[in-house]
Amino acid sequence: MKRQLEIILSPEKINDKSELINTASKILKKSTDEIKSVIVKKRSLDARKSPVYRILCDVYVNENPSAENKIISYIPVKSKKKVIIVGFGPGGMFAALRLIELGIRPIVFERGKDVQARRKDLRAIQQFHKVNPNSNYCFGEGGAGTYSDGKLYTRSTKRGDVNKILDIFVQHGANPEITIDAHPHIGSNKLPKIVKAIRETIINCGGEIHFDSCITDFKFKNGKAEGVVVNDTEEFEGDSIIISTGHSARDIIFLLHKKNIQLEQKPFAMGVRIEHPQALINEIQYHTKGNTESLPAASYNISCNIDNRGVYSFCMCPGGIIVPAATSPGEVVVNGMSLSRRDSPFANSGFVVTVSESDTKKFEQHNPFSGVMLQQELEKLSFELANNSTEDGQKAPAQRATDFVKGKLSATLPKSSYIPGLTSVPLHEVLPNFISSGIKQALLYFGKRMKGYLSDEAVLVGVESRTSSPIRVTRDKESLMSPQIEGLFPCGEGGGYAGGIVSAAIDGENCANAAAKYISAK
Ligand SMILES: Cc1cc2nc3c(=O)[nH]c(=O)nc-3n(C[C@H](O)[C@H](O)[C@H](O)COP(=O)(O)OP(=O)(O)OC[C@H]3O[C@@H](n4cnc5c(N)ncnc54)[C@H](O)[C@@H]3O)c2cc1C
Repeated sequence: MKRQLEIILSPEKINDKSELINTASKILKKSTDEIKSVIVKKRSLDARKSPVYRILCDVYVNENPSAENKIISYIPVKSKKKVIIVGFGPGGMFAALRLIELGIRPIVFERGKDVQARRKDLRAIQQFHKVNPNSNYCFGEGGAGTYSDGKLYTRSTKRGDVNKILDIFVQHGANPEITIDAHPHIGSNKLPKIVKAIRETIINCGGEIHFDSCITDFKFKNGKAEGVVVNDTEEFEGDSIIISTGHSARDIIFLLHKKNIQLEQKPFAMGVRIEHPQALINEIQYHTKGNTESLPAASYNISCNIDNRGVYSFCMCPGGIIVPAATSPGEVVVNGMSLSRRDSPFANSGFVVTVSESDTKKFEQHNPFSGVMLQQELEKLSFELANNSTEDGQKAPAQRATDFVKGKLSATLPKSSYIPGLTSVPLHEVLPNFISSGIKQALLYFGKRMKGYLSDEAVLVGVESRTSSPIRVTRDKESLMSPQIEGLFPCGEGGGYAGGIVSAAIDGENCANAAAKYISAK
C-alpha cells in the first residue's frame, strides 16, 4: 500500500532518514518494519512561526516502490537535418538536447568562450574593471545561467515539464535534492561543471558547439530562414534557426529590426539591488536572534503596489554576492549570485519597479527600443556617477536605504559583497522619479512588515536594469515562428518568452519541438 503523507520535522532532523520512518509509522499506526520505504517528493521550509520543514512523502507499507527511471538516453544523431542555434544559454542548451532526443543535429554558435576560459574574463571584470563585450557574466558558455545564482524556481509550470528540466540537470551532475526542494538552488560554483557535462552530451551525440562565434547576420531567402553569418566572415546553412541570445544581446535585436522582423515593446522592471547583513535577514525571517546554524540562509520574497505599479524583490540571493553584470565597457549593471553553500555574510536582492510603455515616452521616437534606451541611459549614468575613468570602471553607485528614504547623500557606506567597490551617490535624485518614488514608498512599507529591513545597514546598489528583456520578438502562438520568416524561432529570455533559467530551458525545448515539426513538414 502506498500512502501520501505530510511529515513535519525540525531543521536539525531534516537529514535523518530514520526520523521519517519513525514519524510515518506513528502517523499510520504501523510498525517501523512494515514501513518499507519513505520517498520524499517535496520539501519546504515553513518559517511563519518556529521554523519547521514540511515534507511531502510517499510512504510504502508492506510494499516496495517500483524503480523509477528518469534518465534520458541521448543517442548519436544519424539524420542530416540540422538546426542552427544562436546562443548557448539555458534556452539554447535545452533546445540542443531536445533536438538530439528528436534525432536532429544541433549546430550551436556562441559568441562567448567555454566555461573555463570565461572565468578569466570574469576575474578581469572583478579585479581590473574591464568588460569584454563577448565574455562576461551574461555572455559565454551556459549564458547568463552559468555564473548565475542557479535558483531553479519557476512559475512557468504550464509552459512545459519543469520536472524534466530538473531531472536533466541532475543527469548532468546537479544534486538530486533540486527535484524535491520547493525552492531548488544549484549555486554558481556547481553550474559550470553541469554546463560542461551538457556540452559533452551534445557533442558526443553529433551536435556541434562553436565558441567565439558571434552571429552577425542572418540569411533569409524567399521568406525562409536559411543560415547565419558568423563573425562577419563565414556562412553556415541550416534547416531552421533558433535564436536564443538572451536579454543582453541588443545587437541581435537591432539586427532583427533592420531585417524587418516584427518586434514589440513589453513591460519589464528596473531598480536597484538591496544588500543586508545575512544575520539581519535570518533574524527577521526566523524570528530569533539566537542560533540559526541548522537553518539555511534565510530568503524573502516581497511585493507591493505603489501608485498602481508593482514594486518587488527579484532574484533574491541569500548568502550571496552582488556581481557586475555589464556586457559593455562604459556601463554599470548589477545582479546577484551565490555559491551552493550560500555562506557569504550578505543577503542581496533585486528591488525593482515595473516599467510600462508610458514611462519610456521620452524615447518614443525609438519605438520599439524605448525600453532599451531607458536601460542604456541608466546603465551609462551609473557608470559615470560612480567611476572617474572614461571607459574601464565597475564601481557601482550606492546609498544607504535609510538615507535614500530621507533624501540625503550617504556620508559613509556599509561593507558590501560587491568586489569592484561602491561610490556614494544620491540615487534618490538620479533615478527616474517613478523608480525613486516607488522604491522609497516600498522601503517604508516593507520596513513596517519586516522589522529591521529598512535599516542603516541596508545599502542600495545601482542599477538592476536587466531583470528581463524590454522587447519581444513576435512569434506565432502555434508554430512559434516569426510571422515574417518561416523556420525562424525566437526563443528564451531574449525573444521575450522566458524570465529565468527554467523558463528559458522549457522554451528551448518548445522551440526544438516546433523546429522539428517545421522540418518534417518541409
Ligand atoms: C548574475 C545573474 C544571476 C542570475 N540568477 C538567476 C537565478 O538564480 N535563477 C534564474 O532562474 N535566473 C537567473 N538569472 C537569469 C538567467 O540566467 C536567465 O534568465 C537565463 O540564463 C536566460 O536564458 P537564455 O538562454 O534565454 O539566455 P542567456 O542565458 O542570456 O544566453 C544567451 C546566450 O546567447 C549568446 N549570444 C548573444 N548574442 C549572440 C550572438 N550574436 N551570436 C552568438 N551568441 C550570442 C550569449 O553569449 C549567451 O551565452 C541570473 C542572471 C544573472 C546575470
